Amino acid sequence: MLIKYYDVIHDYYAIKDIDKFGEELGSSLGLNAEETRIFIESQKEQLIKDYQNFDLKDYPSEKTILDYISPSSQSAPFAIGKLYYLYIITDFQIPSSDGPWTVWDRNDAMYDSYLGTMAIQMQAPGSANVVNDGGYYIVTVSGENSGDNIYAWGVNGWMEEAARNIGYYDSNGDGRTTDDMARSIKTWSGADSVIVLYYTHDDMGAYAVGPDQGYADKGAISYWGRSIYGRFSSVPGSYEHESLHLYGALDEYAGASYCGQQSILSVSPMHEMYSNTNHVNCPYSTNSVMRDPYSTNGISLSSMRFIGWGDYDSDGILDPLDGTPWG
Ligand SMILES: [Zn+2]
Repeated sequence: MLIKYYDVIHDYYAIKDIDKFGEELGSSLGLNAEETRIFIESQKEQLIKDYQNFDLKDYPSEKTILDYISPSSQSAPFAIGKLYYLYIITDFQIPSSDGPWTVWDRNDAMYDSYLGTMAIQMQAPGSANVVNDGGYYIVTVSGENSGDNIYAWGVNGWMEEAARNIGYYDSNGDGRTTDDMARSIKTWSGADSVIVLYYTHDDMGAYAVGPDQGYADKGAISYWGRSIYGRFSSVPGSYEHESLHLYGALDEYAGASYCGQQSILSVSPMHEMYSNTNHVNCPYSTNSVMRDPYSTNGISLSSMRFIGWGDYDSDGILDPLDGTPWG
């Protein structure tokens, strides 16, 4: 049966339709309809796991459908345990009109980072055992900052260049270095999660990079607020807001995300269990740092669930630590 799938030139089995292949394999092996269905489903699950773990060489094989978005695929899967924040003070060869970083502005940004990340620690449930840790690098990258785009977070972007310029290298050959940097820090610090935040001395805005851009959970925060929102310097809420995105939370303000949306930023099982219930368009939406980042530091119940502080089956064990989170 496999002979007809064999691509002689490229020396591999060119299986493009998993359903069709599964049906054929099932009938040649003598599987019944139910066994064939299970086989096809398992094969699809395995493929998804392989994609999610492409840069992790040895991943556990005993995972189930609950691991669609494997926690092992991100450096900051949820906000539990020791949380390490790596700040990368980034200057560009071609500085913005605000010029390179000054010591005063850098210290101000670092202090606001402390307040913003401390606000997360203070709101964590006791069973999450949250304790903050952190450190920083100062680095210069080539070119100029053009904002939230592939020139920042792409394989050839300045975030990867920054990691190389600091001294890390692509040890697993996946084309990125931020993953090696995050893994290295996780190893020597003993942290459960590592968040990488790039600080730029301009007004290009703040954003979190999605999980499709490699293992390292990373984001950028400009010292000056975007001019369209009125120019203001660094506030603690920005650091808290972007960090919560990287743990899995969605925006809750108008024009971003929507009421009832599942979070692409959260890993299993939170990804499957929860949806945005505190978006400004949801009934009973309350003031929160994901909804009103410059006026509050409060984390909504909805965001708490996304970042691993929920207890879906009410058994007293937080979802990420619960072997049977559904009950
Ligand atoms: Zn946001």
